[in-house]
Amino acid sequence: MKNLRILDHPILNARMTMLRDEKLDTECFTRAARLAGKILAVEATRYLESVARQVQTPLEKTEGSRLRRPVCLVPVLRAGLALLEPFRDLLPEASVGHIGIARNEETLQADVYVERLPRDLSGLQILLLDPMLATGHSSCAALAALKKAGAERILMVCCVAAPEGVSEVNRLHPDVEIVTAALDRQLNERGYILPGLGDFGDRLFGTV
Ligand code: URA
Repeated sequence: MKNLRILDHPILNARMTMLRDEKLDTECFTRAARLAGKILAVEATRYLESVARQVQTPLEKTEGSRLRRPVCLVPVLRAGLALLEPFRDLLPEASVGHIGIARNEETLQADVYVERLPRDLSGLQILLLDPMLATGHSSCAALAALKKAGAERILMVCCVAAPEGVSEVNRLHPDVEIVTAALDRQLNERGYILPGLGDFGDRLFGTV
């Protein structure tokens, strides 16, 4: 596995443990996901490139910095919506694109059912918010759609990744970096992550 950064933060780890708990209800799941999202947002953006810029304080000029590229946040619907607000809190100036991907439960293949992106993604730093990297089929479909729209720099942000999904992204998109709160053991025969946390979207929106 390449291009993978597994975060290790005590608060994030505790929130992830809460999210895994089958007893957590929708309200608490949503809150824990937002809190995990805040830490993911800070940690995942740690290595974004900066450029120098001068600033005039009330007293004198000094050297500062700004992000090199404008950021575009792209949540993969539905689950990615959990991470959108925490990321927007950190980057309110970011544009937001949406990609909706449904998983065909029989074939486990991914169908893109909605795509609303800024017209030209070249020059932007894309943060793809996709909480569960399982088979990698939906993530790779989202990555292909982003590249078709011109994306050149994409960082994927996940809560839980499976080795199978990481390998699939590495194989089809070797330029894409992945940041995850946890790397789990494996997939089951239905493409769910083990130990995982179940269906993130269902748990977030109470559609279990
Ligand atoms: N999507 C989820 O929400 N959970 C999994 O375990 C796999 C894919």
